[in-house]
Amino acid sequence: MAKYTGPVCRLCRREGMKLYLKGDRCYTEKCAIDRRSYAPGQHGQNSRKKLSEYGLQLREKQKARRIYGILERQFGNYFDKAERQKGVTGENLLQLLERRLDNVVYRLGFASSRAEARQLVTHNHFTVNGRKANIPSILVKVGDIVQVKEKSLKSPKFVELKESIAHKTPPAWLDLDKENMTGRVLALPTKEHIDLPLEEHLIVELYSR
Ligand code: SF4
Repeated sequence: MAKYTGPVCRLCRREGMKLYLKGDRCYTEKCAIDRRSYAPGQHGQNSRKKLSEYGLQLREKQKARRIYGILERQFGNYFDKAERQKGVTGENLLQLLERRLDNVVYRLGFASSRAEARQLVTHNHFTVNGRKANIPSILVKVGDIVQVKEKSLKSPKFVELKESIAHKTPPAWLDLDKENMTGRVLALPTKEHIDLPLEEHLIVELYSR
């Protein structure tokens, strides 16, 4: 499946909820779902019908994919990996998604959305444990240190960010050193750390069909 390049607000409207894909704009009155909460398309206003069990499972998977910005095949790979791990498959899946470097950059407050975080990672603004890290899908481990590159810190983008980050509080599994623009992974994220409206058991049921 090709990368989605259409309007991202449409994805929120399709899921009938805010997925916070556009950063700061999502918290303003410009948010499309606040203005038009019905689904997109010609029949959008009449399309909020009761979903079948399969429909609910499918929507939950699409929602997770859209929140983390993952393509269909890659999402399937995460599920396979989650299933092979010990523990509860749905929680393993959420943990894998949450451990992605682009998500960690977003969670630390270095970007206003996961899409922006992905772009900053691919543009080579971060290191992990002092080494070049420009692949958004890198999975962080306990003890890993994610840092804004020294060279990048001098750019206007990061100078401004350093000021705005003063009010950020990262989730409990991450530690943020605001002065040095450095994050440390304290623990692997658990379901309790992940504040997303996802019912992961529906995704597991979908893939178990
Ligand atoms: Fe979704 Fe943000 Fe667009 Fe609102 S502004 S519809 S939350 S992406």
